[in-house]
Amino acid sequence: MVGHLDPQFLGIMDNIQKMLRRLFRTENRLTIAVSGTGSSGMESAFVNVVEPGDEVLVCVNGVFGNRMSDIVERIGGVLHRIDRPWGEVFELSDIEDALASHPEVKAVAIVHAETSTGALQPLEEIGKLCRSSGRLFLVDCVTSLGGERFEADEWNVDVAYSGTQKCLSCPPGLAPVTFSERAVKKLKGRESKVVSWYLDLSMIEKYWTDGERAYHHTAPISMNYALHEALCLVHEEGLEARWERHRRNSAALVAGLEALGFRLFAQEGHRLPMLNAVWIPEGVDDAGFRKALLDDYDIEIGGGLGEVAGKIWRIGLMGETSSRENIMTFLGALEALLQESGCLESPGAGLEAAAAEPG
Ligand SMILES: *Cc1c(COP(=O)(O)O)cnc(C)c1O
Repeated sequence: MVGHLDPQFLGIMDNIQKMLRRLFRTENRLTIAVSGTGSSGMESAFVNVVEPGDEVLVCVNGVFGNRMSDIVERIGGVLHRIDRPWGEVFELSDIEDALASHPEVKAVAIVHAETSTGALQPLEEIGKLCRSSGRLFLVDCVTSLGGERFEADEWNVDVAYSGTQKCLSCPPGLAPVTFSERAVKKLKGRESKVVSWYLDLSMIEKYWTDGERAYHHTAPISMNYALHEALCLVHEEGLEARWERHRRNSAALVAGLEALGFRLFAQEGHRLPMLNAVWIPEGVDDAGFRKALLDDYDIEIGGGLGEVAGKIWRIGLMGETSSRENIMTFLGALEALLQESGCLESPGAGLEAAAAEPG
């Protein structure tokens, strides 16, 4: 392990910043990896640009919007929360109406890829609205980054955060974040100190800035090695190619699932390619089925969270795991287990439908 101020390590940090800017599609100077998992990215987004008493609009249609609301309240922000049923996405008019009722709102927060439901939230129009009305736009792209188009600058996103272990296929432990000049201005102009010492970017930023390199906390060195390598792999493949791979593989999985009679959970036209949520068929025992899948086939899929626990499965095709081979292995196992439990008469249709999709 080299030290956290070793010139070799500082070079790695510089490269990480450059590769993160390309990944977020931004020119933002303040683009770094926060020490901690995706939730530390979420918390750093709010603690840095929300002061006690600031009004924040949070859009909630799943677990992670809920978590955002919780954070806003914990740091003394004034929470205005709007909800959509899980699996659905917000319309621009939902945000417009909420802002009309709460004109003092200073920041709008939303999740791009709701991992608890499989819904993909369009951001472009909401970004325009925030920018033209002088509000900060905060976006959770933990699950989308590296697997689906995300355009921080083009979509007027002021703060975006992600995690390493979703579509970047890196071990968990860092949270890539990016802050626009607008967000940095808010941070620099705060009347109160950032309530979290550990996540205060006005201090951490100095460590990531060439020439300053002021010690704040020891960087998790080996995690940064891992992120560096993951980002090299992402850019070697190319962002557009990566998004396309996720889309094609999801289409094959969905074709296979639909041929077996599964129904997709998230709103049509707004489904994630890296997290495919389906209703559990009637008569199938959720926990028992997932246990058999793991024990007998070494395949782990996600159960439902919160209000959809026991009702849906979430099948991840994130980063390196988004491959045709994994889809065929999964569908074969799924068919075999469904047949064993008497829920499928003649297997084969799922695999056949998936194989028919262009690879
Ligand atoms: C996973 C996830 C998080 C939290 O990330 P952790 O690494 O678990 O802390 C936040 N938002 C979304 C959308 C996620 O999928």
